[in-house]
Amino acid sequence: MSLGLQDLKQRLSLLEYLQRHSWKARPIGAHEEFVGLCPLHPESHPSFYVNTTKNVFYCHGCGRGGDLIRFVQLYLKLSFQETIAHLNNELGLSAPKEDAVLRETAGFYERQLDSHNEAWDYLHSRGLQDPRLIRQLGIGYAPGGTLRRHLTSMGYPFERLLELGLIDQRGHDAFYRRIIFPCVDGARLSNLYGRSINNAAPHRFLPRPKGGLFAWSSVGASPEVILVEGLFDLAVLWQAGFVNTTCAFGTHLTQVQFLQLADNPNRKVFITFDSDPNGAGQSAARSLAQRLRSVGLKAHIVDLPEGQDPNSYFVSGMLMSSDFDKRLARAQSL
Ligand SMILES: [Zn+2]
Repeated sequence: MSLGLQDLKQRLSLLEYLQRHSWKARPIGAHEEFVGLCPLHPESHPSFYVNTTKNVFYCHGCGRGGDLIRFVQLYLKLSFQETIAHLNNELGLSAPKEDAVLRETAGFYERQLDSHNEAWDYLHSRGLQDPRLIRQLGIGYAPGGTLRRHLTSMGYPFERLLELGLIDQRGHDAFYRRIIFPCVDGARLSNLYGRSINNAAPHRFLPRPKGGLFAWSSVGASPEVILVEGLFDLAVLWQAGFVNTTCAFGTHLTQVQFLQLADNPNRKVFITFDSDPNGAGQSAARSLAQRLRSVGLKAHIVDLPEGQDPNSYFVSGMLMSSDFDKRLARAQSL
C-alpha cells in the first residue's frame, strides 16, 4: 500500500523534505517563512522562499514555485507518478510485495496463541491480561517448527521465506518460542517483533526495516503523545487507557520515525524510556528531547523509578493509571 497525494503531504512537509536534502535556510518573521539558496538554480544570493503554513515555495530568481510534489518534480526531474513513488520511498512506505506473506505469518502466529499456555503465562507475567487488547494488537505466539509447512502449503516458495528471514537454510522457523507482535501502522505491516519467553536472545526482528512509529496513523492524531521503547511498554499503557502511546522499537528513532513525531509543531511528546541503571535510556531520552525541541516541539521526559521501564512499572503494582498521570504531569512541569 502506498500513500496518496494528501497523505504524503501530511506526512512530509516541504520544509522537512528540503532540510532532509541539506537545504540551509533562515526563518523570516514568526517562523512561518524561510529563505535560502535556490536548489533549482545556481545563485549566490538567497531568493528561494518557503511558506510553512501554506506548504509552498517560490523562487524570485528563477520564478518557479509550487508545492512539495512540484518541487520534487523539478528538483529530481521526475514525472508526477515517479514523484509519488519517490516520496513513498523516502518515507519508507513503499508497497512491499512481501506484505501478504508477513500478514499470513502474523495471522498464523495469532491463531497459535490460544493453544499454548506457556505463551499466556508469559503475557500475564508481563502484565497483559485483557484478551481484547491482545487481539487488537494482533499478538501471537511462535511455538517453532510449524511455519514453513503452513506457508509452503499456501503456495509461498521456500526461497521467498528464506529471503524474508522467516525460516533458516534448514527450513526451521526463525521465531521459536517467542511472543509475536506485528509492527503495524494502519493497514501496513512492516515487520514482526518476537520476544523470547525463555533464555534465548530476548529481542528479534525480521531482517528488514522496522517501519515507522507503531500505530502512528491513529496515535499521531492526538495532540499529546507518549513515546516508549518497547511493545510490552506500549501494551500495558494501552491497557491502562493511554492509547496515545507509540513505540519506536528502541531508543534510536529512524529518520522516518523522527519526521513522523515532528510533523505537527503543536504536538507534545512525553518520552518514557527505560530508567536504566547505566543511564542509557535517560541519556537517549535527553538527546531526543533536545532534537524535538530544536524543531519546535514540546518534549518532556517522564521519570520512572530507577531500574524500571513502563512495563515493569505497571507490573510492579502501579496499576492505577493515576500514578502514571502524576508522572506525566510532573514531566510537563520540569
Ligand atoms: Zn530558483
